[in-house]
Amino acid sequence: MTRIDLHCHSTASDGTLTPAELVRAGFEAGLDVMAITDHDTTGGWAEAAAARPPGLTLIRGAELSCRWYGVEPAIPLHMLAYLFDPEEPALAADLARLRTDREQRAEQIVELLRADGVDISWPEVHGYAAGGSVGRPHIAQALIRAGLVRTTDEAFASRWLGARYFVPKADLDVFEAVQAIRAAGGVAVFAHPNATVRGRIVPDKLIVELAAAGLFGLEADHEDHTVEQRAHVRALAERLGLVATGSSDFHGSHKTVRLGAFGTAPDAYAKIVAAATGVPALG
Ligand code: AMP
Ligand code: FE
Ligand code: FE
Ligand code: ZN
Repeated sequence: MTRIDLHCHSTASDGTLTPAELVRAGFEAGLDVMAITDHDTTGGWAEAAAARPPGLTLIRGAELSCRWYGVEPAIPLHMLAYLFDPEEPALAADLARLRTDREQRAEQIVELLRADGVDISWPEVHGYAAGGSVGRPHIAQALIRAGLVRTTDEAFASRWLGARYFVPKADLDVFEAVQAIRAAGGVAVFAHPNATVRGRIVPDKLIVELAAAGLFGLEADHEDHTVEQRAHVRALAERLGLVATGSSDFHGSHKTVRLGAFGTAPDAYAKIVAAATGVPALG
């Protein structure tokens, strides 16, 4: 059986394994194909490619911070982008802007916490991100160090990063993101589209519009979907002629999910690779 996990994070964003450790862990876990999909960055690609064990195919990707502006307030969502050209100027500029905003936003969150007497600092949080895309899990790490919460999950509760100290990111318009991914030769797959545990989700009619705008697939099997939500997303993909994927969304010790906990079928994977023209699968 081919084991394909198309959504994994490294220290280039909010995962806890370095890109080299990530690909080795994927191989050890018995994966045949693994995608590196850090938030808003391709910063882990080179290290992952250099460390790729023979026998593991590496798909280079990213997870883009997006928003649907069709309702008020707009709904944030994540778009996976696979095998795009990292040098394509428009998409590269979008990613750079998202990362800069992530820094400013994290610094604002730290300031809000400090104003309430929480003893963490921006240099500390920035240090945890270690040059990668900064995210709330890095602030969670500082809250854990300060003894205020025990786990990342606790730090995402509404009294901390979930609501009280929440500052929104400057996300990309989702239609512009799909367009930019395609223009860079990539393939766009909507990450965990029905994950109500993460907050508001978009209606199916938006997914219909995105499919018409060039969306290629939907991530159906994901730990944040119930069994019913997985079936619903799968059926929607089928109805719209989109591929359905499954993946772990591995984040190392920032989450409990294991590599390969969910997988993608070989035919869906083959369609993604065949549709991409930016960079090749490595392996
Ligand atoms: P951010 O991208 O900065 O808004 O932070 C959200 C990220 O934190 C997502 O990519 C999640 O994968 C990660 N995360 C880890 N634990 C949690 C949690 N309990 N709730 C929400 N997000 C979480
Ligand atoms: Fe994350
Ligand atoms: Fe995500
Ligand atoms: Zn993810």
